[in-house]
Amino acid sequence: SAALEIRGLNKSFHNADSTTHVLDRIELTVRQNEILSIIGPSGCGKSTLLKIVAGLDVDYTGSVQLEGKQVDRPSREKGFIFQEHRLFPWLTVERNIAADLPLKKPEVQRKVDELIRLVKLQGFEKSYPKQLSGGMSQRVAIARALMRSPQVLLLDEPFGALDAFTRGHMQEALLDIWRENQTTMLFVTHDIDEAVFLSSRIVVLDARPGRIKEVIPVDLPYP
Ligand code: ADP
Ligand code: ADP
Repeated sequence: SAALEIRGLNKSFHNADSTTHVLDRIELTVRQNEILSIIGPSGCGKSTLLKIVAGLDVDYTGSVQLEGKQVDRPSREKGFIFQEHRLFPWLTVERNIAADLPLKKPEVQRKVDELIRLVKLQGFEKSYPKQLSGGMSQRVAIARALMRSPQVLLLDEPFGALDAFTRGHMQEALLDIWRENQTTMLFVTHDIDEAVFLSSRIVVLDARPGRIKEVIPVDLPYP
């Protein structure tokens, strides 16, 4: 079955004196284990679309179904990664990853340790965010998103704030995570090279109002 099914999605923002029609009749099916990127000019509605899928914006019309269930609230089946990683500065790396789960539970600590290995942050368990580079912080954010074993990972320009070198490493790391976990991923980027490198299909949005212009299949360097 489909991981995500979007049918006739329309989204407008209503302000005091105007209405902005941002997403127009979006139809999209994301298969299980697929990595799908969304590209398009600034302001075309990429972030808005991702927020709707995340359940962070439920003011839309049309149908958005995740694993057959209508999306009407944020839930644990989804992991969301933003451009700015939003780590808690007062918590160590391992406590940031555990989020609100107690580390004193052996199964929580085991999962955190496993994720720290996955994102290659061994030795930094007790470090604080200010001691980490941008790429390392983003890896913590990815580990935190994976903590709840989400069915779908949503990434909004996850590497946009990183230098080119770190970005390359992170792209490889994300592919590794995908190979190991087979998590369905949906991500927004404005970097066409990143989209080609990292996705099985590219959805191109047109602006004003945001509409799917084309869907491009890509040959991923899958194992
Ligand atoms: P993108 O991520 O593709 O750059 P966004 O989804 O952030 O685009 O925004 C799409 C359009 O919706 C833009 O024109 C933006 O100004 C508008 N928009 C986004 N959020 C709001 C909001 N809360 N209220 C009004 N307009 C908004
Ligand atoms: P991003 O590109 O990362 O989505 P933005 O700067 O577009 O960030 O938006 C930051 C926040 O401001 C978002 O919560 C978005 O919904 C809101 N926003 C964006 N455009 C508008 C707008 N025209 N009016 C009101 N809020 C907006």
